[in-house]
Amino acid sequence: MNLQFVKGTPIFTNINENLKQYNYLTENVETEVTIVGGGITGAILGYYFVKKGIKTLILEKGRIGYGSTSSTTSLLQYELDDNAMELIDVIPKENVETIYKLGLKALDEIENIISEYGNKCDFKRRDTLLYTSKKLEIEEMKKEYEFRKNIGLNVDFISENDKKFDFDIKAGVYGINGGAEFDPYKYTHHLLEISSKLGLKIYENTEAIKVNYDDDFVTIETNYGYKVKSKIIIVATGYNTKAFTGRDFGTKTTTYNIATKPLKEIVGWYKNVLIRDNCDPYNYLRTTKDNRIIIGGEDERFEPDIFDESMANKKYNILENRLKSMFKNIKDIEIEYKYCGAFASTKDNIGFLGKDSKNEKLWYGLGYGANGILFATLGGMFLSDLYLGKVHKELELFNPNRFDN
Ligand SMILES: Cc1cc2nc3c(=O)[nH]c(=O)nc-3n(C[C@H](O)[C@H](O)[C@H](O)COP(=O)(O)OP(=O)(O)OC[C@H]3O[C@@H](n4cnc5c(N)ncnc54)[C@H](O)[C@@H]3O)c2cc1C
Repeated sequence: MNLQFVKGTPIFTNINENLKQYNYLTENVETEVTIVGGGITGAILGYYFVKKGIKTLILEKGRIGYGSTSSTTSLLQYELDDNAMELIDVIPKENVETIYKLGLKALDEIENIISEYGNKCDFKRRDTLLYTSKKLEIEEMKKEYEFRKNIGLNVDFISENDKKFDFDIKAGVYGINGGAEFDPYKYTHHLLEISSKLGLKIYENTEAIKVNYDDDFVTIETNYGYKVKSKIIIVATGYNTKAFTGRDFGTKTTTYNIATKPLKEIVGWYKNVLIRDNCDPYNYLRTTKDNRIIIGGEDERFEPDIFDESMANKKYNILENRLKSMFKNIKDIEIEYKYCGAFASTKDNIGFLGKDSKNEKLWYGLGYGANGILFATLGGMFLSDLYLGKVHKELELFNPNRFDN
């Protein structure tokens, strides 16, 4: 388990039984591509690589889906951590447009996978709401709405007079079909089940402890001494990349979540849309198939070696009070799960997908930022093509070397 990166009792590994266990590596093996990390990102990458006929294996040092994947709220939406108007100070406006639209493309892609193989992960397409309860931020919301509308996104403006939600809204941007939710643990296991039929090899409890690069191949040494030889490795280890690179990717925070017991009825929440407020750090909410609410936020600086339990309890209490004050008409709110985990954001809100500038055999699949799962999906699509020699120009936005001096 990724003890220092996830704390508490994450909802998704606790409401689901252990779906499947894979054997650990017991021999030396050769393959074309080694993915290190058996979270949702590794599973997504593995799926695309084997689907395109590339011999691939995954090494997971603990259990599949027990890292950040166990605790992600899994709000899948095209919007980023910051609003467009803030982002255009950092990246060109057309890149913000491209990244919003790529988010929608990734959503459609997940929906297509689910239509092809069945919905085993409680996937549901949702509308989204970004809102403020501060008068001072009404103009900012209007600008975000105008930006999205002008680039052709399907959005409505929500004003103070709109009574779709029980909580106080001064202004909001309503994204029609702009998001989705699912159970990330089930999705990870379903993708692995599909992919193993397509030839993906998966090894649990197998840690990559050392990597040696030769002219034509890479050798990974694993914890029990067995070796994996491949043409490239893809680091999909979430927020823990130290064993593979000295690069410091993103700014790490800890984000906190609580999840309720199943509720009799969720009232005052129009169409169970995905909700995010405009605070800094922001709060985010979703519902689940079994009628729970998950609320998250209250981010703090991440300290890898220290877990401050009293701070975590304060954060969980703040989230519980916020939830109860937002939805006063839901009377049976009781919290069942409390957990927190590392999260990383980047200057331009975009993750890292692609090759290391100094090492052609070292690739990254790091879905950093608020929509890591959608970025991982784009990573699967684009990196598998890149391996086969097809370059997508959009991949440049995710260039792991873009902040190098
Ligand atoms: C509370 C919380 C809420 C979040 N909400 C959202 C959200 O709403 N939407 C969203 O898109 N993202 C969200 N995130 C971020 C989200 O968790 C990530 O996008 C996603 O889960 C990351 O998955 P991953 O597979 O990259 O990482 P992980 O699930 O952490 O998987 C990495 C795996 O690599 C393994 N590993 C590490 N080192 C090695 C090694 N040397 N050898 C072998 N295996 C190794 C680990 O054991 C781990 O299982 C949230 C995160 C948290 C903590």
